[in-house]
Amino acid sequence: MLEAELESGVIAKRGIDIVRGEGCHIWDADGKMYLDMGASYGVCNVGHCNPRVVRAIEEQAKKLIYVSSSYDNGSRKELMERLLSVSPPGMSRVFLCNSGTESMEAAIKFAFGKTGRRGLVAAKRAFHGRSLGSLSLTFNPSHRQGMEGCLLPVKFANFADMDSLRGIVDEETAAVVLEPIQGEGGVHVPPEGYLRDVRNLCDEMGALLIVDEVQTGLCRTGDFFAIQHEGVTPDVMCVGKSLGGGLPIAAAVLGETMGQMEKGSHGSTFGGSPLACAAGVAALEFMEEERLDLRAMELGARFMEGLLEMEHPLVREVRGRGLMIGLELKVRAGPYLSALLERGIAAIPTGATVIRFLPPLVISEEDIDDAVQTIGEVLNG
Ligand SMILES: *Cc1c(COP(=O)(O)O)cnc(C)c1O
Repeated sequence: MLEAELESGVIAKRGIDIVRGEGCHIWDADGKMYLDMGASYGVCNVGHCNPRVVRAIEEQAKKLIYVSSSYDNGSRKELMERLLSVSPPGMSRVFLCNSGTESMEAAIKFAFGKTGRRGLVAAKRAFHGRSLGSLSLTFNPSHRQGMEGCLLPVKFANFADMDSLRGIVDEETAAVVLEPIQGEGGVHVPPEGYLRDVRNLCDEMGALLIVDEVQTGLCRTGDFFAIQHEGVTPDVMCVGKSLGGGLPIAAAVLGETMGQMEKGSHGSTFGGSPLACAAGVAALEFMEEERLDLRAMELGARFMEGLLEMEHPLVREVRGRGLMIGLELKVRAGPYLSALLERGIAAIPTGATVIRFLPPLVISEEDIDDAVQTIGEVLNG
């Protein structure tokens, strides 16, 4: 029986059975190799089955897989310390959970609790998750469809447009929620200074700034977190995807400005399980030691240059920073994504016309160059 007949139906399946992964490659049941240019939606920044992560999981699994976070545990403590040490200055506490969506839910509740206000402002094209709270912040009408009347009231400003934001943020705004670079929305990089201006506006209006670094974080864009590019400290920073080196773990990192949340006001059974934390410690150590931030910057520049040099007539724009790159075509991207997959390159769609690349940050120069060549050939048809 095919998985598609078992699964609820919500997942769009690609019809490929993946059995193994190593570094930036994955293999299907027939032994065909694919270059995972989407890092499986940004989860595998340190590569598939990173040996350091595998070792940490093995060792932790023998000691303790799970214990409630009401008990202290060395792996959990080390993860929180490491995460804070790479976060922007002034971040001081961590709430651990299991997914990016859950980190957004926590951020929303913390913002409501801290400010006593109920207003939320997000950006058009934003993606923050699909549970009812996080979906309220997600703009795409196709994700919201059918849930009218069930969502929190959220006002949407144009992304990267201070005038639009100024007209919307008011005394009722608990928080402005932004991706530093929009991912699902099509890889949109704001102009220099935008995030600093947003920070200032929030301070002026007494609103909190929540940044969603679930996709942009953990070295993806050339900094440990994309917000560090502008030296901005948010009140809450949501982290997920690659944090556990492939295991599910995510975090809402809190600024000193947030103080301490009220005991019992939120929680999570599996959030911060020792197994996921041990994997996370190994993943963060690897990112720091291998300087994946610098690697993303260098290889991203090489990739971007390669795509730009093609000067392909089908390409409308190449956008991004570090190894987060969107290739916008003048035509629908679907057929080209399929052709790339056929040629062993797994990229991710974003909207109708954009192909998104989020390769593992351990990708080699050679694999980047080969990918650029194949992309060119596929575009030539
Ligand atoms: C993937 C993603 C999320 C949701 O994370 P999940 O782990 O799928 O719940 C939220 N925000 C952004 C920016 C994302 O890319």
